[in-house]
Amino acid sequence: MSETVCELTELPVSMCSHCRPKLPPVPERTAIVGQLIAARYAGHCGECSELIVEGDLIGCTEDGYWICEHCAEPEIDLRDLIP
Ligand SMILES: [Zn+2]
Ligand SMILES: [Zn+2]
Repeated sequence: MSETVCELTELPVSMCSHCRPKLPPVPERTAIVGQLIAARYAGHCGECSELIVEGDLIGCTEDGYWICEHCAEPEIDLRDLIP
């Protein structure tokens, strides 16, 4: 059984970067003021409306609303670690 070869790159499909499923896009994140802190109140993320419960990490945006850690841009940008 020979492996299917990509028509574009002529590499085996398992080796072909263009055939491999794309990684999900990194969601756009919003810069926060200061660092992520633990929420003291329950609420909803100002970006994605995700439920925030007490103790969740949240960040405050420049506009003054609270967003969940998935929407918040931390000081260390994780996107820099993804090639
Ligand atoms: Zn391919
Ligand atoms: Zn969010």
